[in-house]
Amino acid sequence: MKITFLGTSAGVPTRSRNVSCVALRLPQRGEAWLFDCGEGTQQQLLRSDLNISQLTRVFITHLHGDHVYGLMGLLATCGMSGHAARIDLYGPRDLAQYVADVSRRTQLHTSYPLEVHTVEPGKVFEDDEYVVTCAPLKHRLPAFGFRVEEKERPGHFDVERARAEGIPPGPLYGRLKRGEHITLPDGRAFDGADFCGPAIRGRTVVYCTDTIYCRAAVELARGADLLIHEATFAVADEPLAQRSLHSTTAMAARVAREAGVRQLFITHFSPRYFPGNRTEPQDLLREAREIFPATEMAHDFLTVEVPRRD
Ligand SMILES: [Zn+2]
Ligand SMILES: [Zn+2]
Repeated sequence: MKITFLGTSAGVPTRSRNVSCVALRLPQRGEAWLFDCGEGTQQQLLRSDLNISQLTRVFITHLHGDHVYGLMGLLATCGMSGHAARIDLYGPRDLAQYVADVSRRTQLHTSYPLEVHTVEPGKVFEDDEYVVTCAPLKHRLPAFGFRVEEKERPGHFDVERARAEGIPPGPLYGRLKRGEHITLPDGRAFDGADFCGPAIRGRTVVYCTDTIYCRAAVELARGADLLIHEATFAVADEPLAQRSLHSTTAMAARVAREAGVRQLFITHFSPRYFPGNRTEPQDLLREAREIFPATEMAHDFLTVEVPRRD
């Protein structure tokens, strides 16, 4: 489970930062999920080591342009390149209408199944390995934060031991791996738990943007291994954050601290904080670390592995 930041600027792109997009990479199943899709995301994908054919899901937090203007172009390219098997989109109510309107006006016909799911607070997606939930944040448009939880996996299965007990390989091993009790034709009974190491704890990644500080973000991020939270403004510019319903560095750090996350990545920086300005990007990081020391600053193409807890 890895994260690659593809866009870390707020509102408009700069030379070094594109507008919002984060890729969640699931290498073991060859998939990439995107969170937001600002303009230019497909160019960012081309410059990264991600492959467009891995794209299976796109989660849109809200419909401000810097989070969604890259979506239709990307979907069109997925069709023309013939790569996509199927793409599922998740987002607020108006997303389905937006996709339908642009598709109709521009005669976009995707060659692959494309489904738009309107999210409601709570569960958004679930399969054998992952569950994705969302919660409404506090912004000028309806906006949702997303939480991706990897499910707990059974511990290492001790094949040698099963063989030594004379249990025939095959479906019985599968049942033991799942922790079930089995009985052999000769009457001997075994408990799967005796053949499995400790369960492997799943990891959790939470993405909160755009929003001003809100309790919903804290609850959504509770205990996460990695929280990505917007920090559009420096503390000194808090009035701007209040007016535009964005977060300051301190607000993002406060969410991380109150939620008890392991690591915070701040992103979605106002272009006003460029190197050489009175407030520079490094100042934003320093401000956040004063409140939550385990803070890092995202930049475009930064890839981080979400570490497992020991
Ligand atoms: Zn934004
Ligand atoms: Zn916004």
